[in-house]
Amino acid sequence: MSNPCIICVAITGSLPTKANNPAVPITIAEQIESTHEAFEAGASIVHAHVRNDDQTPSSDPEKFAALKEGLEKHCPGMIIQFSTGGRSGAGQARGAMLGLRPDMASLSVGSNNFPTRVYENPPDLVDWLAAEMQAHDVKPEIEAFDLSHILKAHQMWQAGQIAQVPYVQFVMGVKNAMPVDRDVFDYYIRTVHRLFGADAPWCAAGIGAQQITLNEWAVAAGGHARTGLEDNVRLDRDRLAPSNAALVRRVVEICDRHERPVATWRQARNILGLRTGQEQEQAA
Ligand SMILES: [Zn+2]
Repeated sequence: MSNPCIICVAITGSLPTKANNPAVPITIAEQIESTHEAFEAGASIVHAHVRNDDQTPSSDPEKFAALKEGLEKHCPGMIIQFSTGGRSGAGQARGAMLGLRPDMASLSVGSNNFPTRVYENPPDLVDWLAAEMQAHDVKPEIEAFDLSHILKAHQMWQAGQIAQVPYVQFVMGVKNAMPVDRDVFDYYIRTVHRLFGADAPWCAAGIGAQQITLNEWAVAAGGHARTGLEDNVRLDRDRLAPSNAALVRRVVEICDRHERPVATWRQARNILGLRTGQEQEQAA
């Protein structure tokens, strides 16, 4: 049975700058162009942060609104996921854009270390972000930086704080958090299946040179894959990635090798239980 692979492209993030790779899209116009190219290459989810003109991270809802408008126009049907990650703002400012009703938003449900600091996700903020997502019909993507985050997502689902079966992203290779470890990866998959059902979809992301490793593992194991310049700016040791689309094409090649079709935006919406509004229907 064919199991289409959803490719998520994390276009910008809050850390990489033009100094790391000139292809990192910073302005809204650059972000729309880069996403459009990645969409054409096979990505069906865009995971987005926004930046100030000086490239520092922003959580300004007006910037998110402009980005959403441009993406809906130029990438019709594509799933829009905004980051509520902790680098882009403090406290409830992290969720100030949820009222724009993107299809999805990332949700971190616990704390852990990052390369140079603590990634703080206190329980009251996690509860508030989850409640805002429910109020605005935004599907959360659970960012699992640790095993406990998957179990926390399960508790929240049972408590009705998350409406649908949680969609979990395994994040591996962040310095001082969970390293890339095959046994842990396999256990993550078993845990998702045990808690959320054998058919529950999941996704994986690796940081830096490990991005390709996690892409390979996820595609081979029947999961979905995240790529993009947020997590990794290089094609290999000697070459910078020329674009987000180039990184998406790398995942498409892995899918081909494992005989998995790349999910269209419509298939991706189906798999994730997302709305397909009239707008999206007309675009098809
Ligand atoms: Zn992000």
